[in-house]
Amino acid sequence: MFLLVFLTSFITMEFIAWSLHKYVMHGFLWEVHRDHHEPHSKRMERNDAFALVFAIPSFLMILFGGLIDKPLLAATGYGVMAYGFTYFLVHEVIIHRRFKFFRGRGRYLRGLIIAHRHHHVVRTKEGSKNFGMLVVHPRYFSSNVQRAPGANR
Ligand SMILES: [Zn+2]
Ligand SMILES: [Zn+2]
Repeated sequence: MFLLVFLTSFITMEFIAWSLHKYVMHGFLWEVHRDHHEPHSKRMERNDAFALVFAIPSFLMILFGGLIDKPLLAATGYGVMAYGFTYFLVHEVIIHRRFKFFRGRGRYLRGLIIAHRHHHVVRTKEGSKNFGMLVVHPRYFSSNVQRAPGANR
């Protein structure tokens, strides 16, 4: 049961991350997300603050799951945490190469990279597509899909 809850939490996070990105980050919190869409040479982005949005509840669920002996609450927290690490690896390391310790290979990762580059072609609040991270349209996995020229991030 622990594993099932963990996996459900992980999978649900893709949907939550997608909706937050589409409706909140490209919505009323665009000012926080904006610098992730603009060229810059800063080490950190305001946009990084969103990592806390997921880290805090995840930490609290793990903490209280242990304190009040609710393993499934902890499982949910671990699912969120695992998603956060995966998101970091895919988005920060493999796609944007902010840390260069790992390079993504293979058709699946290539598809994710291209889809997210297409997200970055648009630098404004409106008009972006591909708000998901681990689940993207199947067309991005085809071998003749175009990379996005002009997407510098
Ligand atoms: Zn965006
Ligand atoms: Zn990005």
